[in-house]
Amino acid sequence: MSVTIERVDAIALRIPYDHWAPKPKFGGIARETMDCLLVRVTASNGLVGWGEAFWGGWQATQAALEHWIAPLSVGQDVNDRQIFARLERALHNFGRSGPYLYALAGLDIALWDLRGKLAGVPVHALLGEKKRERVEVYASLIAYGGNIEHVKRNTARALERGYRQIKLHEKTTEAVAASRETTGPQIPIMVDTNCAWLPEAAYDAVAAMKQYDPLWVEEPIWPAEDVDSLGALRKATGVPLAAGENATGTLEFERLAAAGIDYLQPSAVKNGLTNQWEICRRAEESGATCVPHAPYFGPGYLATLHILAAKEKEVALERFFCDLAHVPYASSVPIENGSVRIPDVPGLGPEPDEELLANFRA
Ligand SMILES: [Mg+2]
Repeated sequence: MSVTIERVDAIALRIPYDHWAPKPKFGGIARETMDCLLVRVTASNGLVGWGEAFWGGWQATQAALEHWIAPLSVGQDVNDRQIFARLERALHNFGRSGPYLYALAGLDIALWDLRGKLAGVPVHALLGEKKRERVEVYASLIAYGGNIEHVKRNTARALERGYRQIKLHEKTTEAVAASRETTGPQIPIMVDTNCAWLPEAAYDAVAAMKQYDPLWVEEPIWPAEDVDSLGALRKATGVPLAAGENATGTLEFERLAAAGIDYLQPSAVKNGLTNQWEICRRAEESGATCVPHAPYFGPGYLATLHILAAKEKEVALERFFCDLAHVPYASSVPIENGSVRIPDVPGLGPEPDEELLANFRA
């Protein structure tokens, strides 16, 4: 008898954090907490799976989940891997990215957790074979708004804590220079500019960073979907580029790969694990490298770890560099000296801890 979806719940968490600098703005408002929208799926046999939907605008995603995704998914077979594709198509004119897809992504991640638990195997075993036991983790420094002292001090702090790769969320050459001066020549530095420039302004800004040897410059162009301009910038500067956290679906990633973008960054909490795995596989067949977007802390983070375990090319996992009031999976999936072990228990790994659920609900 098949095991079906009996209930789908959304649980929003808000976790205070310290990144040793004034809080950055997100959507024009100071970001005071790291938010996480958990998706809990209860199956007809009583088993529970946990997913995570993208945190940005989570209130809208929670509504999409409760009003549409949950009622449409109840009664469906947990092991039916076409659920995401079917619901995406059914709801396609509700938006080709945004809350409905994020809610579906959270459901999809929870269903993979359940499938692993039902089969008694880790999710990486459902994707293929585990190709490594641990992965490197890179410190993804949160934006310091170009403040050089914060950049230097926190680059040094990340190195002291054992990280061997640094990503900045900065837009100035001075910030990149300051981080490079702190790391010395051997440490990879990535520079995430979050769509900083219109195409005509991007060349000078990116070319000026080249002397500091960035492993990649991320999303230098606004709008994010101007793939032709990204490809032209890559050719003109010779600087490796990364993009994809704002792209949805396999076709957009094929366009990025065809444009010569070196590093593709699908997000599990926006695309779901099913699509993220497919995007990753196709990206690496085409010669690009898949480096998933992963600045989140819940089951989406675990889902990304399983993808990194099973995919061809070995890459580092993104981790927002901050102290959290409660670190999810701190004892079960700890980051130690800049690397993390792949979970080997059935499903995605550990459940969200009780303390987290009890104390940090929105
Ligand atoms: Mg980014």
